Amino acid sequence: MRILVVGSGGREHAICWKISQNRNVEKIFCAPGNGGVSLLEKGENVDIKGVDSLLQFALENKIDLTIVGSEELLVDGIVDRFKEAGLKIFGPDKKSALLEGSKSFAKDFMKKYGIKTAEYATFTKADKAKEYLNNCKYPIVVKASGLAAGKGVIICQDKLEANKAIDDIMVDKIFKDAGNEVVIEEFLEGVEASILSITDSNIIVPFISAKDHKKIGEKETGLNTGGMGTIAPNPYVTKSVYENFITDIMNPTLEGIKKEKMDFAGFIFFGLMITEKGVYLLEYNMRLGDPETQVVLPLLESDFIDILNSAMDKKLNECHIKWSNKNACCVVVASGGYPKEYKKGYEINGIDKINDLVFIAGANEKDGKLYTNGGRVLNIVALGNTLDEARKKVYSEIENIDFEDKYYRKDIGILYK
Ligand code: ATP
Repeated sequence: MRILVVGSGGREHAICWKISQNRNVEKIFCAPGNGGVSLLEKGENVDIKGVDSLLQFALENKIDLTIVGSEELLVDGIVDRFKEAGLKIFGPDKKSALLEGSKSFAKDFMKKYGIKTAEYATFTKADKAKEYLNNCKYPIVVKASGLAAGKGVIICQDKLEANKAIDDIMVDKIFKDAGNEVVIEEFLEGVEASILSITDSNIIVPFISAKDHKKIGEKETGLNTGGMGTIAPNPYVTKSVYENFITDIMNPTLEGIKKEKMDFAGFIFFGLMITEKGVYLLEYNMRLGDPETQVVLPLLESDFIDILNSAMDKKLNECHIKWSNKNACCVVVASGGYPKEYKKGYEINGIDKINDLVFIAGANEKDGKLYTNGGRVLNIVALGNTLDEARKKVYSEIENIDFEDKYYRKDIGILYK
């Protein structure tokens, strides 16, 4: 089999690493890929972007299966285009990808199917949105409805801040067209959990739960990032939380998918808030998470390609997915300055001294050497019989990684609430 993986992050390296374990996979192309993929025996980076070029590449190179890592191309309809051309591709079509691509669409879907989520209102006019603020309880959450690379959510402590958020998003267009519409949402207090899952539109099969540490600073302080580390399973996902997730969120989501005649094989990432009033759905992502994938796939004992094929054949109900009962911990090593400005091009040393998994994210390979090329540079992932053991393993090795200005959080896996 020849596989094309689309994306360039640690998530895509983890996907390539996992599928390379399948004996029938002879070649994995990653577009545009990163320095980790090019060092895999079966891996090769290809410097192409955009649906047209990817489609042409897949046809010319006789790609048997394409897996798309990130959201933009899914929302652009890459799945529809590949299918029209007779190619096998895993992921939602354009219509189903709206569950991620439009927060107002997703919230209306949640409401229609009785999925437990925060109260909300949507607006396409700034003055109407501001009028609504007069009768709100604070804090409140203002969200750009479209895709904003995880930055489109502003938590506002009072009306003044909320007015500014609306101006920023709808008038000054800081998130461009993603801010043509806003969702104003009840603020939920609690702890977050990520549950990735796979669906064939007949059933949804949840993966092992994960927890993301989103803030740049220790003790969850400072700016939001793409994620500074993850653990799996998520210790807050107790039996009762899981049961609430299934009843209040996953089952009605499946009902909605069927009733809306969404028909696809893909991943659904449920972003959850566990509160005193139960488990709420914050958002859907219609692809795997980064860096959640980096802890979930190493715990997967079944063959990943077999699972994807079962979903595409609509036989997910016959597929038994086996998980390790270990714990995984992933710590992101980033460029100093991230998520703001940072420098690139520093040589990375010490990867050969790491005994656990290393998933490369923002780094390029040149003549066998790796150089920093992004904010989140690489991920170190270890498994242990307990969370503490997994954490200790990562932190006992991470100092071996050496590049200028490196930064990582020392408290990934420590639970503060
Ligand atoms: P990403 O794509 O990075 O996951 P996003 O831009 O799609 O994020 P959301 O996941 O909806 O947006 O929100 C981002 C973060 O904002 C959440 O992980 C959560 O920390 C916070 N958040 C969102 N909605 C609420 C809410 N109603 N109450 C409290 N916090 C919230």
